[in-house]
Amino acid sequence: MDATKLAPPVGRLAPSPTGRLHLGHARSFLLAWWSIRSRRGTIHLRMEDLDGPRVQPEMVEQALRDLEWLGLDWDGEVLVQSSGLARMHAAVDRLVDAGHAYACVCSRADVRAAQSAPQQGQTEQRYPGTCRDRFASVANAEAQAGKEAGLRFRVADGPVEVQDAVAGRRSFDVAAEVGDFHIARRDKSPAYQLSVVVDDGYQGVTEVLRGDDLLPSAARQQLLQEALGLSTPTWVHVPLVLDADGRRLAKRADDLSMAELRAGGTDPRAIVSWAARSAGFDVPPRAEASDVVRAYALERLPREPLRLSRATIESLREARA
Ligand code: GLU
Repeated sequence: MDATKLAPPVGRLAPSPTGRLHLGHARSFLLAWWSIRSRRGTIHLRMEDLDGPRVQPEMVEQALRDLEWLGLDWDGEVLVQSSGLARMHAAVDRLVDAGHAYACVCSRADVRAAQSAPQQGQTEQRYPGTCRDRFASVANAEAQAGKEAGLRFRVADGPVEVQDAVAGRRSFDVAAEVGDFHIARRDKSPAYQLSVVVDDGYQGVTEVLRGDDLLPSAARQQLLQEALGLSTPTWVHVPLVLDADGRRLAKRADDLSMAELRAGGTDPRAIVSWAARSAGFDVPPRAEASDVVRAYALERLPREPLRLSRATIESLREARA
């Protein structure tokens, strides 16, 4: 038995300041917080501000205010991901030195041109491995190509098994679906998969509860964890919240944001209650986040996406404090 699974869990809230947080985010953050607090664990807040050009600095403050407004707290200082670049670069270097990663000078157009017809359901481009075993080193790749190289993780053939507390046992063929994926861009800034794995390791995270759009990423993150000698956390991927038309909520203007609800005078306890009830917990129509901790039960978490009806949105808008 893995001793880390018996110790109080360590979780994290990891917003990306790339837009306004919506009700789907609110629900995932509440669930992540309840899951950890119900076992008297530790929860960190990590601001994932490495998402290049999509980051909007004013969204950092707004995300913090949204979370506080919901009644969430966290342990220790906020970890701003961009303050840990040295840690990320060191991990990339280790992967390159150990032969787990290599320099790639392909442009997006190169990758597109080399790609055979995408398989059904495939939404990402699979990297065909053009630069695998092509250069002796990163410096050599850059000298030969006359441009900076990105770095890719070498993915071994075969399925990657992900054990998830909600989705069950799932198998992903990372080599066939995405191929060798980026761990750093050309300017050597770390890619999402790498930075999440490095910081989950750095913060000692033992449980990751998030939306199930990231389930395929869990397989890639496991490969990185293994290569870096980090343990894999317990995965808890929760089905997403969809709008009335069945589309996933996004950080678009037309999907109701927490900032908008807050400005409109909504009682955050109504949102807490909606999130708790939608996950099968029995709570009053208005509840403090801390009052739901006792009602949290992993086995109740829904296995299906949640449709957010227009009537529910209206009732949340009108649930004034
Ligand atoms: N920051 C990511 C997001 O907001 C979540 C990353 C993660 O949970 O691993 O989509």
